[in-house]
Amino acid sequence: MNNPRPCYLQIAIDTPLNAVFDYRWQHEPPQIGQLALVSFAHREVVGLIVGITETTEVPVDKLKDALAVRSQLSPLSDKWLALAGFAADYYQRPLGEVALPGLPKNLRVSTTVALDRAIKKLAKLDAPHDPAPANMPQLNASQQVAADAIGGAQGFKPTLLYGVTGSGKTEVYLQACAQVLAREPEGQILILVPEINLTPQLEGNIRARFPGVMLATLHSSLSEGERMLHWLAAHQGQARIVLGTRLAILSSLPHLKLIVIDEEHDPSYKQQEGLRYSARDLAVWRAWQLQIPIVLGSATPSLESWHHAQTGRYRRLELRERAVQNAVLPTVKLIDMERDKPSDGLTSQLITAIRQRMERGEQSLLFLNRRGYAPVICCESCGWISECTRCTSFMVLHRPEHRLRCHHCSLEMRIPRHCPTCGNVDLQPLGRGTQRVEEGLQALFPEARVLRIDADSTRKKGSAQEAFDTVHRGEVDILIGTQMVAKGHDFKNLTLVGILNPDTALFSQDYRASERLFAQLMQVAGRAGRAGIPSEVLIQTRYPQHPLYGAVVHHDYDHFASALLEEREQAALPPYLFQALLRAEARELATALEFLAMARDCMQHPGITINDPIPMTMTRVHNVDRAQLLVESPSRPALQAFLREWLQALRDMKSRVKWSLEVDPLDI
Ligand SMILES: [Zn+2]
Ligand SMILES: [Zn+2]
Repeated sequence: MNNPRPCYLQIAIDTPLNAVFDYRWQHEPPQIGQLALVSFAHREVVGLIVGITETTEVPVDKLKDALAVRSQLSPLSDKWLALAGFAADYYQRPLGEVALPGLPKNLRVSTTVALDRAIKKLAKLDAPHDPAPANMPQLNASQQVAADAIGGAQGFKPTLLYGVTGSGKTEVYLQACAQVLAREPEGQILILVPEINLTPQLEGNIRARFPGVMLATLHSSLSEGERMLHWLAAHQGQARIVLGTRLAILSSLPHLKLIVIDEEHDPSYKQQEGLRYSARDLAVWRAWQLQIPIVLGSATPSLESWHHAQTGRYRRLELRERAVQNAVLPTVKLIDMERDKPSDGLTSQLITAIRQRMERGEQSLLFLNRRGYAPVICCESCGWISECTRCTSFMVLHRPEHRLRCHHCSLEMRIPRHCPTCGNVDLQPLGRGTQRVEEGLQALFPEARVLRIDADSTRKKGSAQEAFDTVHRGEVDILIGTQMVAKGHDFKNLTLVGILNPDTALFSQDYRASERLFAQLMQVAGRAGRAGIPSEVLIQTRYPQHPLYGAVVHHDYDHFASALLEEREQAALPPYLFQALLRAEARELATALEFLAMARDCMQHPGITINDPIPMTMTRVHNVDRAQLLVESPSRPALQAFLREWLQALRDMKSRVKWSLEVDPLDI
């Protein structure tokens, strides 16, 4: 049944070429938002239909037929296409590169076996219909105010839910969700979390609370089959709640009525490669587009969100008290390492505090954001140190594995028996990582059950969960870990947190370092005393007078954030200024810098500041040299307009240097 009048499909394809491509279609006209299989650059690929026309400018002999339309899949909505279009425009990427990678891989293959199977499976699933929550714990007064304000909100209402650690933000989200599910017969809710593996408790809580509601999860550790199924359940409107990491922001949710972003300050909402988008920022745009409420929750909000709350763009709701009866925030004390000199990385005060916990049968957590045994080994006789041959970085000593490892390019080698320069056999570890602290703890407390949790100890799938379960079961006395242990977990019997070496971040060149350090310290401190047992946090520092630590001691985010914002305003930094970063990579640093200099000079730019090209702080990674060029403007629209033209000019330069542009960069 050929259609006598062919139509032309404008199809977005996942390619860096900034264009959509015309194909001929000689059957029943499809719909915009459907997927089509086409041949592109000698391959069969799935593209997205973004336009249907009766004419084309492509000459007939160049025009190809689209091979198939995925008619079994309902089209992606106009709103979804607009979201992808906005993201492409804002982050200055081709539409196809934004829209297609957000879809499950199984949708983007030449066969429809997986798609058909998923459709069949979902059709068989009895879509549960009962949105009633299984039980609703009593909220305290401020939780109730927050839950009602969020659950009852109509229209675009961004809310910053600022609540101290342990204040029961999750319960507020769940009860607000219950209100939305009860009110909106088909309504869907999107809940974003920074890292799903670190918050399995939340998934369990949602399932237990809403047993009659289909929950879909979307994150990178799903198998492709699962991802297809969950994505489809959301796209078809069957899943009423979608819980996911940043990639879930681009999922298709035709009846979306509420967005929740937990730990909204967390840097993992920013994608750090490819399309470098902020899921948090896209979520706010999506809520605005759909005119629905959105809640951003945190104990240490990002300065951007805090600024929006201060200027009235966001409504601020506060939870100042811990939700569990009698649970109070831990006492935070600073230990001056100049006075109490540490041995094996631990000051005598911290050792005493751990011993007390051991005697009382309570747990201690030591936080050190540096994995491995020692960050470097050195030769004391000639000064040789274990540098990575491929990076501007050091080879980290991993003693249990008898290896030196570069954490940036994964280069590995055996520990040398003697100094490669002078032959000295006495090579010394310098500094301290989690493995070394673990060793020291075992020597100090031979009877203690010590457990280390970091990226090395949890390489196997499922091993992180296993390790955390061991802690929850009370089979660990002393837990030592990196940032992996700082987030989300609710350790009932934990009454001491020791923070070992936070000082380096105080003097970082990165202007965001202190904001991040503060958030991290508050997060990890917040692990203590959640069940109502009095608890303390001990911070070992050489700078006990530093105002950042003062703010941590007083749990005083408000003043700290306001002071930081003032500094940013005076120094003309974000959020008072908008930035984009052009990065270039080459074998030789000079080549990268040269390209950036050309980029700087290739266009007039009134109202835009283009800084000089500089090498990146870590210049060389895996034998590639990297440099950057920072572009700034006090006006976001001006910056966007400039970037659009500038990118075209850069593409026209057809340089062989590999370059990429990031809008709103986090790491500069
Ligand atoms: Zn030597
Ligand atoms: Zn390396």
